[in-house]
Amino acid sequence: MASVTLRYFCYGCLVTSATWSLLLFLYFSLGAEPGHGRMPLQQHRSQPITKGLAERRAGRWPHPANKGAELSPEMGMIFNEADQELRDTGYHRHAFNVLISTRLGYHRDLPDTRDPQCRDKVYPLALPSASIVICFFNEAFSALLRTVHSVMDRTPAYLLHEIILVDDHSELEELKGDLDRYLKEELHDKVKVVRNQKREGLIRGRMIGASHATGEVLVFLDSHCEVNTDWLQPLLTPIMKDHHTVVCPVIDIISADTLTYSPSPIVRGGFNWGLHFKWDPVPPAQLNGPEGAAGPIRSPTMAGGLFAMNRKYFNELGQYDAGMDIWGGENLEISFRIWMCGGQLLIVPCSRVGHIFRKRRPYGSPGGQDTMAHNSLRLANVWMDEYKEQYLSLRPELRERSFGDVSERVALRKRLQCHSFKWYLDNVYPEMQTVANGNKQQPVFINKGLKRPKVLHRGRLRNLATGRCLVAQGRPSQKGGVVVLRPCDPRDPEQEWAYDEEGQLVLAGLLCLDVSEVRTFDPPRLMKCHGSGGSQQWSLGKSNRLYQVSVGQCLAVAQPIGPKGYVSMAICDASQTQQWQLEN
Ligand code: UDP
Ligand code: MN
Repeated sequence: MASVTLRYFCYGCLVTSATWSLLLFLYFSLGAEPGHGRMPLQQHRSQPITKGLAERRAGRWPHPANKGAELSPEMGMIFNEADQELRDTGYHRHAFNVLISTRLGYHRDLPDTRDPQCRDKVYPLALPSASIVICFFNEAFSALLRTVHSVMDRTPAYLLHEIILVDDHSELEELKGDLDRYLKEELHDKVKVVRNQKREGLIRGRMIGASHATGEVLVFLDSHCEVNTDWLQPLLTPIMKDHHTVVCPVIDIISADTLTYSPSPIVRGGFNWGLHFKWDPVPPAQLNGPEGAAGPIRSPTMAGGLFAMNRKYFNELGQYDAGMDIWGGENLEISFRIWMCGGQLLIVPCSRVGHIFRKRRPYGSPGGQDTMAHNSLRLANVWMDEYKEQYLSLRPELRERSFGDVSERVALRKRLQCHSFKWYLDNVYPEMQTVANGNKQQPVFINKGLKRPKVLHRGRLRNLATGRCLVAQGRPSQKGGVVVLRPCDPRDPEQEWAYDEEGQLVLAGLLCLDVSEVRTFDPPRLMKCHGSGGSQQWSLGKSNRLYQVSVGQCLAVAQPIGPKGYVSMAICDASQTQQWQLEN
């Protein structure tokens, strides 16, 4: 709002004094939006601490620091080389769509994904204060800042003790000077940054963050999260009741390609004998409590990055295993330790935090080692007793591999008088023997597959520059076939496209038009419809452009226009070669 007013303000040289007063009135009355605007003098206890209009001054930071536009399917559209460059280097460095993330800005509204019962819950006012610890390594500036601002925008000030950012020796320039300046000029004193002198990995990184914290409860988040409405109170309440309780939010899904925020189903954490985390269905008995789907769920393991724990308890329980490197295994290690040494681990469905799920991790370890195997060996040797054989029999090549000294961790287990691993399996995860073991760490998507998406339009897809129609080069049933332009024939069923509510373009009821997300210079092809958006999601707007949501480009006639009728993906413009009509 302020930026709009200021833009008119620049034209102000022409205006009369009456218009001046109107503009000033508009500035002060409309500029202060609820939740972001000026605070009343006496700050209400439940109000967030967002600083006001400062963050909306666009253009001063590496990426626009505005309030953030509403996410639209066309937000990833590429109009010039600079957009293309931002998108491509973004995918390369961060493995998600940094063009959209940047355009989105540092604040946005999120859908309230909680069960309706959660909205009526009342939490105690006297909750412990929280130190939020966020480790990052080469994170995209916009994603990191959106994480920080989402916490400030949606956390009551009196519960937010501090936010500690741990920079794990990032190499990206913008995470140094620009971040320091943004912190100093735009953020509240409650936000601090700790810089590691060398790359430590997220495990030692979180320990370093925790050692600087002084709040009663530690809350760990990844650097590409957005917390949702009333996220913190349901995490703190069970910890206040029993400080041996560790609590995880439900991790909602932020799409790496489109940045859309969608709910996760209520599931709980498990693992397989390869020591990979996985999601399991919640045993029905656990959902039958008085609070039903809004009640806490006992979880055998946690996914990793997002949880809250009493700070003293974190220290008493042995923090993390400092001999673990970079990434992996620490989530199972702390989960086993919590349960085996007298604590409990809960997932509370009324706390929702979105996380960008990427298809690959965009970094390696400094020495290129497989840190997951190293860390898993340490945890198996300290915590799993005779069951470590289950892991080693799946990974015989690791039998001779050294995993460093674990004597301190073994002593810790003894000192805390922890239960055996058999006790854990019998009492916490009896399903381990019976549940089918998947192998990959992935978010659980709500199964959309059962319902066929509704068709919005049907017809031939005519290009306005050539007057020709888009068809399969070979048979429309041939997977991997390319599409070309041919004379339109209204009687030919093989020219009929269906455009549905998921943005899919289905030719002759058979295959979907698909663009490789990695090789965006390849022509679009016909592939089996996968139903999960991304490479098969098209947006057909008023401009007649056919914009491909995950690559950000538009469908165009290949240049130079030739008799073969080839098409390709191109930077979006207003030319007729990019205009299409779906007509009967
Ligand atoms: N991280 C870090 N140092 C590392 C690796 C990761 O500080 O060496 C941070 C990373 O930036 C992120 C968090 O730790 O905020 C968790 O890592 P990541 O998101 O890559 O894990 P995933 O979500 O893929 O399991
Ligand atoms: Mn992450």
